Amino acid sequence: KELSSGQIRQMYLDFFKEKGHTIEPSASLIPVDDPTLLWINSGVATMKKYFDGSVVPKNPRMTSSQKSIRTNDIENVGKTPRHHTLFEMLGNFSVGDYFKKEAIAWAYELLTSDKWFGWDPEKLYMTVYPKDTDAKKFWEEVGVAPDHIIEVEDNFWDIGQGPSGPDSEIFYDRGEKFNNLAPDDPENYPGGENDQYLEVWNIVFSQFNHTPEDTYEPLPRKNIDTGMGLERVVSIFQNAKTNFETDLFLPMIHKAEELGDGVKYGQDSKLDQSFRVIADHARAITVAIGDGAIPSNEGRGYVIRRLIRRAIVNGQKLGIKESFLYKLVPVVGDTLKSHYPEVLEQSDYIAKVVRSEEDRFNETLAGGLKLMSEEIDTAKNNGTNMIDGATAFKLYDTYGFPLELTQESAADAGIKVDTEGFANEMQKQKDRARNARSNAKSMGVQRDLLIEIKDDSEYVGYDQLDVDDAKAV
Ligand code: ATP
Ligand code: MG
Ligand code: MG
Ligand code: MG
Repeated sequence: KELSSGQIRQMYLDFFKEKGHTIEPSASLIPVDDPTLLWINSGVATMKKYFDGSVVPKNPRMTSSQKSIRTNDIENVGKTPRHHTLFEMLGNFSVGDYFKKEAIAWAYELLTSDKWFGWDPEKLYMTVYPKDTDAKKFWEEVGVAPDHIIEVEDNFWDIGQGPSGPDSEIFYDRGEKFNNLAPDDPENYPGGENDQYLEVWNIVFSQFNHTPEDTYEPLPRKNIDTGMGLERVVSIFQNAKTNFETDLFLPMIHKAEELGDGVKYGQDSKLDQSFRVIADHARAITVAIGDGAIPSNEGRGYVIRRLIRRAIVNGQKLGIKESFLYKLVPVVGDTLKSHYPEVLEQSDYIAKVVRSEEDRFNETLAGGLKLMSEEIDTAKNNGTNMIDGATAFKLYDTYGFPLELTQESAADAGIKVDTEGFANEMQKQKDRARNARSNAKSMGVQRDLLIEIKDDSEYVGYDQLDVDDAKAV
């Protein structure tokens, strides 16, 4: 079947609606009342309140397509066929209601029934936790051949204290031509790190409470939490080589082709990576800014800043000379409008934020790139093959190059970066700022004493002297 991403998302939600689930809207990417998370990174992250019992849902069966951001995958983006910073996680949830048997039977029905996905069962592999004989039994009961059920020791979902349990992941065999590994590579099995078998769905059976004493007690009410990556499923339906050759990403790739110096996607594998990074990051920043994030020097804002700057540096490689990312904002909005009309509606505001951030970086970009290429030459010529900490810090502090971006550009030329040296420079900078601040403070106090008599003093020095932490995740 050739379906659009919008139709596929809806099909998932409709299927679970038919099974008694309430369709929940996608929550904001910015976590509410959850200091442990920088971004919503899965469907279940928005459902913690139900799973820990602090709130009782109206219906214990829920389904959603949840916007998620995973910063730990930034480096994978563009390199693997399947990783994004922003992706949508389709999920069905049971809060103490149905459990393993139903979750497995419905998963199989959705995937293989002609009324729904209609996928060939021969293409599917289910991994199970070796001790979870129930999961194995239920997959066999619905008709999965024993040689398509694979035991994987890692299949246990555990984040420390709290609910935990075995999981079962579903892989789709995309065929040998997708295999990127040597024939004797040990990762060459469904469930391994290879591109032939694509992980599409993770079904978590949370049945234990991981106690502070480090024991696992059976939960009186067991839960189901699942996550299916929409972009991966779309790549299968649309017979795409990677997630990027789908209706969710091609419009941005085509726009980037228009803006560049004539290079087309598919001509050069290195430049293809740049196209993919741009399309991915354009999506992430657009949706995240729409949800209220703004570029800054710390936390979430610094993630946005890093994504924008990385996209811009990749734009340079395609010959894009001026601010351009903001032009992708409405294109992103268009790809998501069936489920997230608010993105397109806010696109003027989002584009403004992106543009001012781009303009700002572009002021120092040429200088930064020049310094970078000189330093790479020096590092090669003097045989250290290393960019020293002071230079990396200068690139960061004067030219706005996030450390990872310097590392990445250096790595392209086979050069490393002295990250320890960078951290030292950062510390020195902080110390300088602290000293400057305490001086300013004492001066401010004296000045206040003098001014107090006449009028209200307004002292603005502190904020300007403050140096934000450059911590990311
Ligand atoms: P992978 O092994 O491919 O990195 P994962 O095991 O880390 O994926 P899970 O935590 O099991 O992923 O998340 C559930 C599902 O969400 C995955 O099966 C996949 O379909 C999707 N998914 C996870 N991370 C990403 C990502 N960075 N980009 C796109 N889809 C993702
Ligand atoms: Mg992962
Ligand atoms: Mg995995
Ligand atoms: Mg997984």
